Amino acid sequence: EEQYLIAEQKTKELEKAKEELEDYSEQLQKSSQYKTNFLANMSHELRTPLNSILILSQLLAENENQTLNEDEAGFAKVIHTSGTDLLKLIDDILDLSKIEAGKVILTVDEVNLTEIPELMKLTFNPIAEKKDIAFVIEMDANLPNVWYTDGQRLQQILKNLLSNAFKFTDKGSVQLRFEHTSQDMLAISVTDTGIGIPKDKQKLIFEAFQQVDGNTNRLYGGTGLGLSICSEFVKLLGGSIELNSTIDKGSCFTVYLPQLSQEKLDSILLAQQE
Ligand code: ADP
Repeated sequence: EEQYLIAEQKTKELEKAKEELEDYSEQLQKSSQYKTNFLANMSHELRTPLNSILILSQLLAENENQTLNEDEAGFAKVIHTSGTDLLKLIDDILDLSKIEAGKVILTVDEVNLTEIPELMKLTFNPIAEKKDIAFVIEMDANLPNVWYTDGQRLQQILKNLLSNAFKFTDKGSVQLRFEHTSQDMLAISVTDTGIGIPKDKQKLIFEAFQQVDGNTNRLYGGTGLGLSICSEFVKLLGGSIELNSTIDKGSCFTVYLPQLSQEKLDSILLAQQE
């Protein structure tokens, strides 16, 4: 009899705990929803005034009518560069929060691979010239002309990897290479002859806000968000990312992407949300 009462009591306690847990997880879900909405609204509100700052500071920096002296035009340039960094940070935080909340929208496009080199040269040739680093792009002879994946995100991934490569390289070269693997994957590698990444940090840097160390952070700037966004997008596109790096020799990041169909992409996104 006594044991029966104890068991009944325990069952009641368990049920109560279960209810509490359910309430708690509902609250958690709600607050995560609030967080995503808040970040989305904030980033929109921040972007509008920032765009005015960017456009007007650029006009000032161009100093077409010579109304500013050299110092003043230089200050305008700094305002423009800092504003650009801030915009990137806002975009990165919004991307990460959307990924976390399972709210990323991806679409499968017919991506014309032959157009990518020109696009990347347009963005990175000025940096390459300024730092006197060679920027080499190689396309495998048997590379298909089109690949089915999210074109916008693919560009974002490449720009992130390339801007890191240029940031952490002071001499030598940055190479962007496209290959079609025997497993029918698109392999894109970004190889640099820069400072390299220590073995014990090679996993860590793919996590948000992680950088090799505070000193390099101060020296090179950045937020530690780029690689985590890259690897999350690569995962959502059904692919993977690999890193090979040797200190003082350089780094090679390789992204593998499958041919996607919208159905396949939708099922990946659905699995991500569960
Ligand atoms: P950020 O570049 O804004 O710091 P990332 O997430 O893109 O953020 O990179 C995280 C860290 O990984 C960098 O701070 C740097 O320490 C290291 N890293 C990334 N790419 C390279 C590279 N090509 N060469 C050397 N270190 C790198």
